[in-house]
Amino acid sequence: MNNSKQSNQGTAATPVPFVDLKAQLPQVQNEITARINRVISDTAFILGEDTAGFEKNFSAYIGAPYAAGVASGLDALRLVLTAHDIGPGDEVILPANTFIATALAVTAAGAVPVLCDCNDYYLIDTGLIESKITAKTKAILPVHLYGQCADMDAVRAIAEKHSLFVIEDAAQAHGARYKDQRAGNLSSAGCFSFYPGKNLGAFGDGGLITVQNKEIYQKLLMLRNYGQSKKYYHDTKGVNSRLDTIQAAVLDVKLKYLDAWNHSRNEAAAYYTKCITDAGLPVHTPQISPDSTHIFHLYIIRTPKRDALLSYLTAQNISCGIHYPIPVHLQKCYGNTLGGKGSFPKTESFADEILSLPMYAELGKDKIERVVSVMHDFYRSEKKAQV
Ligand SMILES: *Cc1c(COP(=O)(O)O)cnc(C)c1O
Repeated sequence: MNNSKQSNQGTAATPVPFVDLKAQLPQVQNEITARINRVISDTAFILGEDTAGFEKNFSAYIGAPYAAGVASGLDALRLVLTAHDIGPGDEVILPANTFIATALAVTAAGAVPVLCDCNDYYLIDTGLIESKITAKTKAILPVHLYGQCADMDAVRAIAEKHSLFVIEDAAQAHGARYKDQRAGNLSSAGCFSFYPGKNLGAFGDGGLITVQNKEIYQKLLMLRNYGQSKKYYHDTKGVNSRLDTIQAAVLDVKLKYLDAWNHSRNEAAAYYTKCITDAGLPVHTPQISPDSTHIFHLYIIRTPKRDALLSYLTAQNISCGIHYPIPVHLQKCYGNTLGGKGSFPKTESFADEILSLPMYAELGKDKIERVVSVMHDFYRSEKKAQV
């Protein structure tokens, strides 16, 4: 991390972006440009060696026997459900506290999302899962949200007892570990997104599924490529959802840096927590489960004064986010079909109080100090206003 001190006083303070994709470029740009140029010279634009090579390297990194690249994280989720024969008439249990894609994938596969409230780690509350199981339940779909793994021992025990599949949404957890295994290797299949802002991001959209079972893997290869078993022999009604070859080349270069970047995010998170704690600010900092290594895709704090704090930080050129302001079941697209207001109290109250602070591998101590110092100013001004 960058240790240089800077003054937090005055108006000349530099902005702190929420994510800075440009900060990562100097480290990888030359290597990536060379790889992209090779794909162009080869004119092997669809699948081919670069996609297969990245699939091999990524599955080895995760520890899973197979990996199938697809066009996005959403496609990874919906195609893996189809590959498990999950569709119309089936139910899939997932956390209410997640990005909309987790639920949309279940809907797109033709099945019904059944939501479950979250715990203090912002992850699926495994104590509530069994109450959601019906005769129609086919799978549990935990999300390793913000970069930390769900309680997979508990999830797997419930799944085993009720003969359900477990599929992970690991779109925010590239490289995170649960005990001694990586996210994506903790269940039947792990779904990843390579959206540019993720811990491992492409120069466009991309996704991938890590798979334990060879038959599921072969089904995925067919599904992503028009359902064909060989060229122009269509055994199943597939889609066009291949991992773009240029994106695979980009990702293959970046994969080598992922552990180092995750380590830097971890250091940044620890420093945020130290600075916030030292300053005695009345906000909840992230809780880290003893079973998990957190890779801090996002650094989430929680405070009842969230909206005022967000405005204050924004006015000081510090960009934050809310992940997510409206829980899945309260989104317009689902009407009241997944449960009305009050159905998932913890998720709903968190949605009003959570704030994502700037987080990326190259963030550095000076920017973290500035963010926390402005937060400190906010709480001081609040105190004065109360007198
Ligand atoms: C990003 C994300 C997805 C979807 O990935 P895309 O590549 O954007 O389709 C799914 N689930 C979670 C938890 C995500 O964060």
